[in-house]
Amino acid sequence: MNNQPLESISIAQPHPVNTSLRQKMALALVAVGLLFVLVTWASRQVWNPLLSLTGSLVTLSVGTLWYAFETYKGSLPGIKNNGVMFRSLSNRGVWGWMVGVFITAFYVCLYWFPKMLGGLVQMFDPLSMFIRGRAADQWFVYGTFYTLAVLLLGVKFMLKYRHNRYQQIRTISVMFFQLGFSFLIPAWMLLMNQPEFYFTYFWPLKYDYLFPNTVNWLTNSYAHLGVFLVFWGAVMSFIAVPVLTYFFGKRWYCSWVCGCGALAETAGDSFRTLSDKSLSAWKLERWLIHSVLVFIIITTILLWANSWKQGAILGEYSMGFSKTYGFLIGSMFSGVIGTGFYPIFGNRVWCRFGCPQAALLGIFQKFFSRFRITTNGGQCISCGNCSTYCEMGIDVKSYAQRGQDIVRASCVGCGICSAVCPRGVLRLENGSVDLMDRAKYPE
Ligand code: SF4
Ligand code: SF4
Repeated sequence: MNNQPLESISIAQPHPVNTSLRQKMALALVAVGLLFVLVTWASRQVWNPLLSLTGSLVTLSVGTLWYAFETYKGSLPGIKNNGVMFRSLSNRGVWGWMVGVFITAFYVCLYWFPKMLGGLVQMFDPLSMFIRGRAADQWFVYGTFYTLAVLLLGVKFMLKYRHNRYQQIRTISVMFFQLGFSFLIPAWMLLMNQPEFYFTYFWPLKYDYLFPNTVNWLTNSYAHLGVFLVFWGAVMSFIAVPVLTYFFGKRWYCSWVCGCGALAETAGDSFRTLSDKSLSAWKLERWLIHSVLVFIIITTILLWANSWKQGAILGEYSMGFSKTYGFLIGSMFSGVIGTGFYPIFGNRVWCRFGCPQAALLGIFQKFFSRFRITTNGGQCISCGNCSTYCEMGIDVKSYAQRGQDIVRASCVGCGICSAVCPRGVLRLENGSVDLMDRAKYPE
């Protein structure tokens, strides 16, 4: 009897694609950069911060870019997701858990035990002095790593989707907003002794921007600029959000501008398949995300009510609400779970289950928007690619099979379902639609 194992005849290639020698060398460079970071994290005093910082950031950057070019060079344009279900990193394997634990540990130190970041903060002093005119703190370290991840993995994403104009422009957009509006401009404002303000985040995502304390602080300490910043925040929250969502759907923010979306779309690209597609996840999503929205609305109203008419009980409640929200949602959910758990729950776990901005944009998208994904049902071969790669856990295939437009509150308009469809069934459109009729679309 022949005991040789049978060769697989699966067309899905069950074995991970081989890593070439050059890719291994590039990964070794990334590992050296990470080792630099770990050693400084573990040490109290950093030897020559400038040299250490340059060494770690350069090796991390060169290694990542080299790996990306080696991966896609010479290959035909087209979606490259080969082996994603079989890699330990992207199928909740050992590497996935290790990365998840590492990022979670980083977030825990960042939010609650910044002293445990050791020499890491000191290592960033030279860069912080250069662009902000002051020593680094843990948030500057975080912002730099975050921006670097969006830029480097954004380049990788653009190489992977180089045949797709929508993905190219969208990625340039998130890289631009992350680098300019979430990193450089706030840093330069600090350099000029102005408040560190993030123009692309507004209430309810940046929940404290419309809290009375922040409004008073900005208007009292920064005169006209402070008034302008409060005005900007209010206009974006109450005018730009509904108007832009009416024309473009929530994608204008979630997939083109927002920093959380920027990281999810670039660094989180390999984890799209991990989003839970079950009905129970959908039910949980709707309860959770709308509860968070209600939570922040009540908190904001209580804080304003207390600032107008102070009372012991009102003061206690408003403080209790704002502290609980800050801890549970602002730190735990958006940071620790939202990013640390990418390799376990997928790249949009925060955007799907917790973000109050996404909840608000989703309500507008569902009921008052021209955006929808149209389907040419006759062409659908039910391969399921679209559902598999939808990071928001939407069962796109079921809509395509019925030839029904997709009008879902949670869809962030990333366009990946359309990009991976081998039959060109799905199109993202901002067409005119009878608004009253939108209620007929199943949610
Ligand atoms: S339905 Fe398509 S465009 Fe919408 S979130 Fe899912 S993959 Fe992205
Ligand atoms: S990827 Fe295209 S062909 Fe495949 S199930 Fe989805 S809509 Fe149908």
